[in-house]
Amino acid sequence: MSLLSLSNVAASYGASQALFSIELQIGEGECVALMGRNGMGKTTTVKAICRMIPASGTLRFAGQDLTRLTSDQVARLGIGLVPEGRRCFADLTVSENLIVSARKGPWDIDRVTRLFPRLKERQGQRASSLSGGEQQMLAIGRALMTNPRLLLLDEATEGLAPVVRQEIWTAIDELKSGAGLAILVIDKSIQELRKVCDRATIIERGRTVWTGTMPELSRAHSERHLGV
Ligand code: ATP
Repeated sequence: MSLLSLSNVAASYGASQALFSIELQIGEGECVALMGRNGMGKTTTVKAICRMIPASGTLRFAGQDLTRLTSDQVARLGIGLVPEGRRCFADLTVSENLIVSARKGPWDIDRVTRLFPRLKERQGQRASSLSGGEQQMLAIGRALMTNPRLLLLDEATEGLAPVVRQEIWTAIDELKSGAGLAILVIDKSIQELRKVCDRATIIERGRTVWTGTMPELSRAHSERHLGV
């Protein structure tokens, strides 16, 4: 049975409909790539899951109907979001950013800083003084501090230097293989997604057009749906 299950999901921004029929399944401990060209509805799908925009259709997580919950309740149920653009509290220190997100479970500051040793070195610094890569590590750390069962990463490595990107991918792989977290990841690097993810779901103009395992994702699919 899937941990997260979306079926026939639709959503609009006012009068403008962005999602028409999204189908998406994520099993326990599985890493799934949500793929598609710019503006096809990836971020909107993430927002629908987190109840940041109203959505219709079936959205279920761990046996619960998400459409009945607020975004706060969704977070408490075990869905951790690393939003596009990171969004840490700029004026709080690294430690404070982590502490304000904390909920009971195996993830605490010690474990987060073991995953990202750079955050340990920067513990007392304000988030605003961190590099882009460090801010992304902090954003992931904050989501982990909520002790989620499912982690949503929107634009996991966007705008980061190649070396830092690699550190983020290594961490994602560690979260999947070591910590057994279920992960949904959006990123522009198909090559990295292929290495880390088990399956992919491709969306086009608000509709799921393909789902399969990474080995099944052929060059033809990539050319047709992803424009590469
Ligand atoms: P990107 O990779 O560019 O972030 P995406 O696949 O995540 O693309 P979305 O951001 O989900 O795409 O956008 C889907 C559609 O919804 C687009 O047509 C976009 O213009 C529209 N859209 C997104 N946010 C809003 C908004 N706040 N108000 C109105 N329309 C929006």
